[in-house]
Amino acid sequence: MFMTEWSASIQNAGCAVDWQKKLNLSLNNKQWSATIQPIAEKLANGIRLSVDDGVILYRHNNLSELGMLANLVKHSRFDNKVFFNSNVHINQTNICVLACRFCAFRRSKKQNDAYAMTVDEYIKEMDKFAEHIDEVHSVGGLHPDWDIDYYVKLIRTAKEKYPDISIKALTAVEVKHLSNLSNIDFSETLKRLKNAGLDSLPGGGAEILNDDIREIICKGKESSEEYLEIHRQAHLLGIPSNCTMLFGTIETIEDRLEHMDKLRKLADESSMLQCFVPYPFLPDSSRLPQAQLATANEILRTIAISRLMLDSIPHIKAYRMNIGDEVAELALHYGADDVDGTVRQESIMHLAGAKSSLNYGTYQLGKLVKDAGFLPIKRNTIYTEFNEFQVLPPKRIRRLSVIQS
Ligand code: SF4
Repeated sequence: MFMTEWSASIQNAGCAVDWQKKLNLSLNNKQWSATIQPIAEKLANGIRLSVDDGVILYRHNNLSELGMLANLVKHSRFDNKVFFNSNVHINQTNICVLACRFCAFRRSKKQNDAYAMTVDEYIKEMDKFAEHIDEVHSVGGLHPDWDIDYYVKLIRTAKEKYPDISIKALTAVEVKHLSNLSNIDFSETLKRLKNAGLDSLPGGGAEILNDDIREIICKGKESSEEYLEIHRQAHLLGIPSNCTMLFGTIETIEDRLEHMDKLRKLADESSMLQCFVPYPFLPDSSRLPQAQLATANEILRTIAISRLMLDSIPHIKAYRMNIGDEVAELALHYGADDVDGTVRQESIMHLAGAKSSLNYGTYQLGKLVKDAGFLPIKRNTIYTEFNEFQVLPPKRIRRLSVIQS
């Protein structure tokens, strides 16, 4: 599918090639409120929304109208399709030299429940899921002793055993940490990881790309510019990546929009930022009492505004691990087109208070998409292969035998 009308290059990542034309038609066929009309006109004509437009959208009292606008943009790009993949999360260590104030996952080396997987232990984790997955998503703490050599060995061993499983691993701050420990620059670090078998970078660790805020919520992490530079260097080496936003800590609405603006400008350079994953800060077990926790209204609004602001990033994810299945279903009507993957095990969000179900198989995920009213499409990590997913219920085993033949 998607052979002619749908582009499957890394850059277009499954978008309809004529999506802007479709959008123009659908936006001009609707009546909009006086507040939304000028914004709809900009979108119809392919004019990028400004940060001020984003503020207007955040303040607009008609959430449904905002959702309709975002949904039209999503439909123009992807029609009724919603993407997911079959993956597992393996967090290789929870030992971390930093102590970000929102993080419930990290441990110091001396804590009882600190762990650090050997390469063999990591491969054994993969073994448990390998038959059912096409991606392993690995992020973890900044281990004080693991430099580039450890990760090259880990990735190379995993790739040699499972060449068909895509490795999406290491957030920007982990890349920076390896680079510092190994005394090599970002580009060389990424080059060695790529040569070992790294396929793509996840987007974690962006939080809010504002250094004053980062100083308070994640002191010691990479700076905003370093986050962007690490992704830029990855793109130059042909490694696609995702990007994220952690909202609902101490940032303002303008900070969120400036964050989106920085990301879309980076995406303009290479079109290799494939997916934006906005997720709210979860309060439990954390150390940020001044956080202004996001409401469901705000989560849906943020997803819709992401869709409208991020014209150069094709996919917007409803990250169900964090926002839960119910809000994720709704988010698909507010501009999101992806629900991530089966995940199967997850610590970072769940230690912070997430309640979303783990151990989802492709059937449950496809059903979630279908129940929300969309066509489930199973994709690969980098959005270049797509298959329509048939939601067939698992076969029931009838145990009651009435007639013996
Ligand atoms: S968010 Fe990452 S870098 Fe920060 S403390 Fe947690 S594990 Fe460490």
